[in-house]
Amino acid sequence: GLTTRLQNVFGKLRGKGKLSEDDVNEAMREVRLALLEADVNFKVVKDFIAKVKEKAVGLEVTKSFTPGMVVVDIVHKELIELMGGTQSKLAKANRPPTVVLMAGLQGAGKTTLVGKLAKLLQSQNHKPLLVAGDIYRPAAIKQLQVLGGQIDVPVFSLGDQVSPVEIARQGVARAKEEGRDYVLIDTAGRLQIDEALMEEIKQIHAAVNPDEVLLVVDAMTGQEAVNVAKSFHDQLALTGVVLTKLDGDTRGGAALSVKAVTGCPIKFASTGEKIDQLEAFHPDRMASRILGMGDMLSLIEKAQTNIDEEKAKELERKMRTAEFTFDDFLEQMEQVRKMGPLDQLLDMMPGMNKLKANPNFKIDEKQISRTEAIAKSMTKAEKQKPDMINFSRRKRIAAGSGTTVADVNRLLKQFEDMKKMMKQFSGMMGPKGPKGGMK
Ligand code: GDP
Ligand code: MG
Repeated sequence: GLTTRLQNVFGKLRGKGKLSEDDVNEAMREVRLALLEADVNFKVVKDFIAKVKEKAVGLEVTKSFTPGMVVVDIVHKELIELMGGTQSKLAKANRPPTVVLMAGLQGAGKTTLVGKLAKLLQSQNHKPLLVAGDIYRPAAIKQLQVLGGQIDVPVFSLGDQVSPVEIARQGVARAKEEGRDYVLIDTAGRLQIDEALMEEIKQIHAAVNPDEVLLVVDAMTGQEAVNVAKSFHDQLALTGVVLTKLDGDTRGGAALSVKAVTGCPIKFASTGEKIDQLEAFHPDRMASRILGMGDMLSLIEKAQTNIDEEKAKELERKMRTAEFTFDDFLEQMEQVRKMGPLDQLLDMMPGMNKLKANPNFKIDEKQISRTEAIAKSMTKAEKQKPDMINFSRRKRIAAGSGTTVADVNRLLKQFEDMKKMMKQFSGMMGPKGPKGGMK
């Protein structure tokens, strides 16, 4: 799946200073597949990859991050950009009422949306009027009246014998008379785009000159959503898109495609059948959803805010020269701990759940606290030169840290092992990168 692909991106790019074109190409192959799997239109994917590549090639990878993190971060930011960057609000006319016209195929969720928007507006102290402009679908008027009744918002209807154009015109006039500041016009949809449908909604548009024309798109329809959006956009001046049925298991790739094709911002996300299941659309959240990487991104953010670049560089230098002391050890722990409980951090890292499933691997926060306590009970000299810690010093440190001599012994042994490992490691890495079989 998607997450696995992105884990591959992380895994393949490792320990390099600058992102080469080959690195980026390889990563982009995975990203491309990930996006296609998420149902993003192939042409949109192509343009997108080109843009990301341009940004990523030659980029310096700072020491606190892996190149994979850097690439995913660029991809994420670029996705957000593609979906309009920031959140986009519902239009508001200078002179009320604000007229909102719904467009979209049958079953997309237009009528439901009218109810949801009315509830939202009402909660912001607006006074919406609903207009029953779908006279074709049996019970469409009734459906709107039920929704209006639920939230105590009036519904304007002239039955099903008057043309929708006339209903819309009179609906707006009624709103003016009664001081309603939003008019939400429900319209008919067809199962497929057809001439008569387009003609009718164009006439309604001409009659009421709406401030907002919302295209309602079923996110579950994936690729088909692009064709629908394109047809509507060609015929009607859309001002915004609403994605519905995001509660389904869709990856939301339609969001990307629809925005790219129409140029219209996505304003709302509908996430269920209930009247309060409507959210403002957040490009950043959708980008995470499309990437299927959820919390990985919050981890990157945490690392960006909490890891001190300079300190990380210094630490890296010390590892290379094996000058690592207990002070550094404490320092490193401090940095990691600032990012949150270790358990939680591991949950966020791709691949780490595998590690956690291993019964031999256990994160013991208590053990870490004990380690810190021991290190803190050492004198300055002891921390710099642990070799000097003889038996009587061990006894003193154990007493000072509330641990046992055995605990202190264990830690000193671990520290020695770690240093040995670092020496070997730095021998292989050297300042100019890997010399041997390190992969
Ligand atoms: P319209 O033909 O465009 O007016 O579509 P409707 O508003 O009648 O909605 C069609 C069906 O989709 C109804 O059964 C709604 O309850 C359902 N629906 C609408 N929005 C959502 C949504 O966000 N999530 C889910 N799961 N169902 C929705
Ligand atoms: Mg309807």
